[in-house]
Amino acid sequence: MARQDSGSLPRENPCAQCGKPISRPDWVEHGEGRTSYLWNCRACNYRFEAIAIYEPEQVITPLAA
Ligand SMILES: [Zn+2]
Repeated sequence: MARQDSGSLPRENPCAQCGKPISRPDWVEHGEGRTSYLWNCRACNYRFEAIAIYEPEQVITPLAA
């Protein structure tokens, strides 16, 4: 009965093929500095992966010659 409220979880992501919103990802994999979401569209059976990369500081290091 307890509602699982994961605030960081993306929801209603539109399907990459037919555009129908998918309520929640089928599979979530947490990696280093990134989270992979596997979306499974029930409307057209299309599956695709979306990766969220979160880096607190994105430092662009110029290549030293
Ligand atoms: Zn779809």
